[in-house]
Amino acid sequence: MGHILDAIADIKASLPSHVELIAISKTHPKEYIEEAYSGGQRHFGENKVQELSAKHDALPKDIKWHMIGHLQSNKVKYIAPFVHLIHSIDSIKLLEVIDREAAKNDRVIDCLLQVHVAQEESKFGLKPSELDDFMQNPELTKMHNIRLCGLMAMASNTDDEKQVEAEFHAVGELFKQLKTKYFANSDHFAHISMGMSGDYELAIAQGATMIRIGSTIFGHRNYNL
Ligand SMILES: *Cc1c(COP(=O)(O)O)cnc(C)c1O
Repeated sequence: MGHILDAIADIKASLPSHVELIAISKTHPKEYIEEAYSGGQRHFGENKVQELSAKHDALPKDIKWHMIGHLQSNKVKYIAPFVHLIHSIDSIKLLEVIDREAAKNDRVIDCLLQVHVAQEESKFGLKPSELDDFMQNPELTKMHNIRLCGLMAMASNTDDEKQVEAEFHAVGELFKQLKTKYFANSDHFAHISMGMSGDYELAIAQGATMIRIGSTIFGHRNYNL
């Protein structure tokens, strides 16, 4: 397990100071998280509500928990009391539910819009062409307990670095367009969550402010556990 601390230190040594490392602990036991925590890591990400809630209950309360996976509206209530940032907003309906649950908890929940730029087919994420409609939806102005803080994306799962770079570049451009058009007077819309174990350097070069690293830190995942 000493590997965990070494891996985090190695990644952090190469990170520009404006980039936050989110350790993606999905499928791994809480002991792994405690190990990373002992070295000072505080941002962790999970992709399933049940696992996120269970780990939140069991682990120190100053951990900042990121929800990075697809989120069903009916499960928002379980993470609304504590979640630090939800990366996977892909509908107004989901955002409305988060707003309502955040209000019940007397909080404002920070959220990122997930945008789909990869070549692979995916049900998740807004298409770039859908972003304007999303931002112009009148319901948005009624939501006072959510805060849109930027974009999240995943690149195609390919060895073609040019392809990955082009997709991250597209996300950076979309971020700038949205910032200019809708958030010129907001300091909060400031984040781009992109880059995983295999491609985070390319992501940082294209403007990522948060990288989500799982396997490089914690080793491979065993989904049968
Ligand atoms: C699992 C996951 C990661 C981390 O992937 P690694 O390749 O293990 O670093 C990042 N982002 C999302 C959305 C994930 O589901």
